[in-house]
Amino acid sequence: MSALISLRDVRKVYATGAVEVAALDGVSLEVESGEYVAVVGPSGSGKSTLMNILGCLDVPTEGTYSLAGEDVSTLDETRLADVRNRLIGFVFQQFNLLPSLPAWRNVELPLVYAGVGRDERRARSMAALERVGLGDRAEHRPGELSGGQQQRVAVARALVTEPAMVLADEPTGNLDSRSTADVLALFDELSRLGRTIVLITHEREVAERAGRRVVVRDGRVADESMWSPA
Ligand code: ADP
Repeated sequence: MSALISLRDVRKVYATGAVEVAALDGVSLEVESGEYVAVVGPSGSGKSTLMNILGCLDVPTEGTYSLAGEDVSTLDETRLADVRNRLIGFVFQQFNLLPSLPAWRNVELPLVYAGVGRDERRARSMAALERVGLGDRAEHRPGELSGGQQQRVAVARALVTEPAMVLADEPTGNLDSRSTADVLALFDELSRLGRTIVLITHEREVAERAGRRVVVRDGRVADESMWSPA
């Protein structure tokens, strides 16, 4: 059985005028299905670049990325969008909820893009809200929910397509300590239920909850002992 995520010798080079920056400089990484992994490292180390590649928002300059058995290193934008929608549930620092829509309509959006019919969308988005403990807030708009509740709606939206992995970018970066605890408890629960979670963070408290830490330094994966929080 191959790993869910397999990166081999990935480089990502940005050219700004005459200057080239290798944001990732030979990253190899495997994540098995069901793992809970935190990607950590100081600012500028390449975490966002790695997140963009793992999330199929960008492709490597060199090297290969295989996700759930598919080589996604060289896909064009249309096919990347298809992979994102089928295999990845995203959670962002800023929640990225549409303010005019009630919670359940935010949660059903990935199913709209996937062409799922209306009744099934409603049933699945309600079930996803139940799963994050917000079944009774389905009709609330984001502005009527706390930060922690908004992020739980975003997690429900990430789960509604039953993705192969949940990819979270600083998911607690905008939350107070109580809401952070709330969202981390939810990730713990999802992990116990066998979800694959990859989260990017610079916070030690968050990283320590994951089953494994991948430390990024100067565009490479470093030994875990190299990590000191920013
Ligand atoms: P982190 O998320 O850990 O702060 P990034 O992945 O954002 O790190 O950046 C890694 C390196 O790549 C930095 O030196 C950054 O300046 C550079 N970089 C990131 N994105 C771009 C870009 N679009 N163009 C040029 N350089 C970039």
